[in-house]
Amino acid sequence: MKAAFLTGLRAMEIRQVPAPKLAAPTDVLLEVDTVGVCGSDMHYYKAGRIGCQVVEYPWIVGHECAGVVVEVGGDVTRLKVGDRVAVDPLITCGRCDQCRVGHIHTCRNQAFLGCPGQVQGSLCEYLIMPEASCFAIPDAMSMTQATLCEPYSIAMWARKLAETPEDARIGILGSGPIGLSVLVACKHAAPCTVYQTDLLANRSALARRLGADWTGNPHECDIVAEIHRAEPDGLDVVFECVGEQETIDQCLELIKPCCKVVVVGIPEGDRLSFEMNHMRRKEIRIQNVRRHLHQVAGAIERIASGEVDLDALATHDFAFDEVQQAYDLVADYRDGVIKAMIHVKADS
Ligand SMILES: [Zn+2]
Ligand SMILES: [Zn+2]
Repeated sequence: MKAAFLTGLRAMEIRQVPAPKLAAPTDVLLEVDTVGVCGSDMHYYKAGRIGCQVVEYPWIVGHECAGVVVEVGGDVTRLKVGDRVAVDPLITCGRCDQCRVGHIHTCRNQAFLGCPGQVQGSLCEYLIMPEASCFAIPDAMSMTQATLCEPYSIAMWARKLAETPEDARIGILGSGPIGLSVLVACKHAAPCTVYQTDLLANRSALARRLGADWTGNPHECDIVAEIHRAEPDGLDVVFECVGEQETIDQCLELIKPCCKVVVVGIPEGDRLSFEMNHMRRKEIRIQNVRRHLHQVAGAIERIASGEVDLDALATHDFAFDEVQQAYDLVADYRDGVIKAMIHVKADS
C-alpha cells in the first residue's frame, strides 16, 4: 500500500509499504478514505515535535480520518465489512487504573494515531483499528463530515468540561478548526454570547458566519479592553484555542472571578506561565482538555442530522499524491485555508 511518511522538517514522501494484517480478534481493517490535516500535525510537520513527543523519521502522521471496513476480526460484533466509519484515533489498554474507572482518554498506555513513538498515523491506504475506535456512519454522511467528527468531539468535550452557565458570556481565543468547532458546539448547546478572536480576517469572518457575536484581531485592537467594554464583569468561560503565552494572558484578564479557563490549544513547547496575581485574586480554575471522552457517537448524530453544520471548515481538498502541498498550504495559512482534507482513496 501507499503511505505518506514525514522524512524531515516540512518533508513528506509517499512510499510503498506492506499493508497491515489483522492481529487481534477485536480489530478491524479499514480502507482509509479521507484524512484531515490538524493543527497538531502541523507541530510535527514544522517543528518535528510537540513538547517531549519528538518525531523519529520516517514517520506516518495523521489521525482525523474516515474509512470503510474491509475485514473484521473474529470477536468483532458491531461492525461488518462494507460499513463506513468515523475513526476515534485513540487506542486504549483497557487495563490501567484510568481505563478501569472509565477515563479512557487518559489511559496510561494509550496509543494515538500518528503520535511519535506510539502508533503510525492514518495517512496510508489501509489501517488496523480496534472495533471500539470505529463508529459506523449513516449513508447520507460524507467522508469529509465523518472526518470532522474527531475535532468536533474535542469541541463537545471542551464545552462539557467548561460547565457553562445559562446564557453564558463566552470567550473563544483562536478561530482555527478547533476554535470554530468550539464555537459551533457552544452555539448548538444553549443560547450564549460569544466573543471570538483571531489574527486572520478570513477566520474571523467565518466565526461570524458560524454565530460568533463579536470578533476581534488582537494585533489590530486591544481585545481585552474591547470585550471588557461590552462585558464589564468579564466572561463566564474562556476557551484558549491557540496554545500561546499571549492568549493565556488574555484568558486570565477576560475571565470572571471563580470561573474556568478551558485550555484546548496545544503549545509547541513544554511550558507556559500564568500570572499569579490574576490566578489568585480571581480564584481562577484552569481546566485542561485531553482529547475527549465518549463524544464521537454524539458528534455523528448531530452532524448527520444537520443540527450542526461543519462543512464550511473543510475549505480545501487534495488527492493523496498532493499530501505535501496540503501540509504546506496549512503550514503557511495560505489561500484562506481552515482545514484541508486529503482524499487517500482515489475516487473519494
Ligand atoms: Zn486533530
Ligand atoms: Zn488504559
